[in-house]
Amino acid sequence: MNILVTGGAGYIGSHMARYILRRKLRPVILDNLVYGHKESLPPRIKFYRGDIADQKLVSKIIRQEKIEAVMHFSAYAYVGESVTNPRKYYENNFSKTQKLLDTLLDNNVAHFIFSSTCATYGAPDTKKISEKLPQNPINPYGFTKLAVEKMLADYSQAYGLRYAALRYFNAAGADDDGAIGEAHAPETHLIPLALQSILNPEKQLKIFGADYPTPDGTCVRDYVHVYDLAAAHLQALDYIARRKTSDCFNLGSENGYSVREIISACEKASGLKVNCQETGRRAGDPAYLVADSGKAHKILGWQTSYDLEKIIATAWQWEKHRRY
Ligand code: UDP
Repeated sequence: MNILVTGGAGYIGSHMARYILRRKLRPVILDNLVYGHKESLPPRIKFYRGDIADQKLVSKIIRQEKIEAVMHFSAYAYVGESVTNPRKYYENNFSKTQKLLDTLLDNNVAHFIFSSTCATYGAPDTKKISEKLPQNPINPYGFTKLAVEKMLADYSQAYGLRYAALRYFNAAGADDDGAIGEAHAPETHLIPLALQSILNPEKQLKIFGADYPTPDGTCVRDYVHVYDLAAAHLQALDYIARRKTSDCFNLGSENGYSVREIISACEKASGLKVNCQETGRRAGDPAYLVADSGKAHKILGWQTSYDLEKIIATAWQWEKHRRY
């Protein structure tokens, strides 16, 4: 099967591409390299540099590469920036995704896996987040992802598009061989920043808020390995294709770890101290976000295989030797 991976040079997309290859399927990558890294592409992969909204280019790729399904990772994902510069997010994450979807429909590509997010739920007042909860995002990033979900539902109803919306919790970790890993510029995520502050103690990690209503006062998140996320994508594709249906799934480990617990896990993996300091809260951070992934377990047969220790071990190996 030929699968177009948009954003395939980005963090999750590049792991997806390798995972597809391991499963003896064929990924084709489309990435504009605004945030992606050419160095993250597997050797001998078919790569197109360009924009998802370039309908001529995407049509050409679909025809030439005989694309049967699309996994759509190319999106901007800085929550803070989405508040200060929402037009960038509505344009790229929503408007350009509509152009991409229209191109797929025009070329009879009917299978679409969408990178969605737990940010579509906002800040729910509950222990574990299931798909039954209402989606009330609290920032433009979450709104753009929810808007695409709504568009997918309408397109599937009207045009027979089959899709899965996969709502990730906190994607983390790196390739087991250390070939690729997380490399955002600027980096804002906790695990890479904690590990970077170990390697370079001048880069002090700031703990954003220690006064949350959580056991140790710091925010609790659900960290899920990128290859576990990748596995869910292929399972979801198989499911929507076989059952001729569409659906949404929460993807998380169902375990919550506080910022302090993550710092301790990074210190344990490295044997070194994280240079950190408590500061005020970061705008828009909910106290507690942990998945109920029962639906993905039951319907897709999805299970995570990386626990927190393994996630951090792969991330640490990547940070120590990173190539880009
Ligand atoms: N965090 C932190 N210091 C940092 C980066 C993140 O304390 O330098 C906290 C952040 O407030 C959140 C958690 O770590 O509670 C995870 O943040 P991250 O940005 O990794 O992912 P998010 O949950 O925002 O998607």
